[in-house]
Amino acid sequence: MRVLVVEDDALLGDAIQAGLKQAGYAVDWMKDGVAADHALGTEAYAAVVLDLGLPRLSGLEVLQRLRSRNSSIPVLILTARDTVNDRIKGLDAGADDYLLKPFDMGELAARLRALIRRASGKVDLLLQVAGVKLDPAAHRVTCREQPVDLSPKEFAVLHALMLSAGKVLSRAQLEEQLYAWGEEVESNAVEVHIHHLRRKLFPELIETIRGVGYLIAAGKVD
Ligand code: CA
Repeated sequence: MRVLVVEDDALLGDAIQAGLKQAGYAVDWMKDGVAADHALGTEAYAAVVLDLGLPRLSGLEVLQRLRSRNSSIPVLILTARDTVNDRIKGLDAGADDYLLKPFDMGELAARLRALIRRASGKVDLLLQVAGVKLDPAAHRVTCREQPVDLSPKEFAVLHALMLSAGKVLSRAQLEEQLYAWGEEVESNAVEVHIHHLRRKLFPELIETIRGVGYLIAAGKVD
């Protein structure tokens, strides 16, 4: 899962980036509204953490521009100002949730998980396909009730495929979920992760759609 963090405070931005990376996200961090607006217009994110008080373009304007492009990407706004008015303006402009600074990193990660889950249309905390269960909160996977040890990137690939079960994801779409800006994408990385997942889970779970991408069939439900 790739998320965008927009925060001009260096210490706070750094802490959020570190916390979300630890929670398994690929994180892009923008420090002003114009850079954020540009990133949102060009990249695919699973969710956005957006500070309202930003240089160059306010968080509210970033949000309004995003929604005027008909993007439904989940947005969680951060505000230091504990005024009802700010929150109302943010929610009216299309924010999905908000947190008041200072906040707990664990709560931020949990709220992001909830937003991403809601946006994907999945209501269950636990994702389940063909005997494979994935718990995003605990970062745990079992196959036929046996725990399976996955690397963070393998987990991210499996999570993305299970969230869009029944839909083909291209290699590029999976890479976007795995790597943040500036991070070097190893060639064939996605193929290697898929290979490991098939070996650790079972080979038929993930189908290769030649020339298109990879798929976990939605019909493969227990
Ligand atoms: Ca700020």
